[in-house]
Amino acid sequence: MPEENCIFCRIANGEIPSAKVYEDENVMAFLDLAPVHAGHTLIVPKKHIKDALAFPAELASAVAAAVQKVARALVAATGAQGFNVLQNNGLAAGQTVFHIHWHIIPRFEGDGLEMWRQGSYLDASAMQEMAKKISLAVQK
Ligand code: 5GP
Ligand code: ZN
Repeated sequence: MPEENCIFCRIANGEIPSAKVYEDENVMAFLDLAPVHAGHTLIVPKKHIKDALAFPAELASAVAAAVQKVARALVAATGAQGFNVLQNNGLAAGQTVFHIHWHIIPRFEGDGLEMWRQGSYLDASAMQEMAKKISLAVQK
């Protein structure tokens, strides 16, 4: 069911115009209106799904196929040397639209964009402890 106040539901059902680049039975792709680089595209399922935790596995292959199609086309159209596929979950991770979407961002050598700063563990046992905590939670 579309959510009344969801901007991406409204774009997916044509209520709000967008610069559409691809559509099939399950997904739609359109340009981000505030692109990192021109050609920055968003892929959304037509169905309202909030985030990756609510995303059904049955739709995964449709999204994967659309990501490949759009990324290949976007690289050809922009002359990008690479691209990032990004998907944010939760406010803390930068999600601002709570209808799941994948960003396909064209990248150019030397474009200077830093996606994140990497850190380190205090020592090897701190890393093992964290792995243990997560693996126990996975089994729940
Ligand atoms: P998020 O931060 O949730 O991962 O990404 C949301 C993205 O949607 C942002 O990059 C933002 O520029 C884009 N966006 C927000 N509202 C609209 C809209 O109405 N139309 C389009 N095309 N993009 C939007
Ligand atoms: Zn929605």
